[in-house]
Amino acid sequence: MNRPARRAKPRPAHRRHGHSKAGCLKILRGLSAYLDDELEGDVCREIRKHLGACPNCEVFLASLRSTITLCRHVTPPPLSSSAKARLRGHILKAAGR
Ligand SMILES: [Zn+2]
Repeated sequence: MNRPARRAKPRPAHRRHGHSKAGCLKILRGLSAYLDDELEGDVCREIRKHLGACPNCEVFLASLRSTITLCRHVTPPPLSSSAKARLRGHILKAAGR
């Protein structure tokens, strides 16, 4: 019997939105700084520009924001450093895909 190969290899995400992976990586790294309120005006503008053209990153930021909001609702204090580190890990993992 001929079994179809079901375990498809993960498709590179950058094929879908046409941005270079390096571009997204840079933006996602910037988003990491955004968590710490460390963004400078220039970087912020660059991110906004990218988000306008890149649905993938836009969706990611939206979910990141709602996650942070959710966390703030549950726990009164702002993000702990361990929570920040975890989010940063998620970001870099997503960026590495
Ligand atoms: Zn992107």
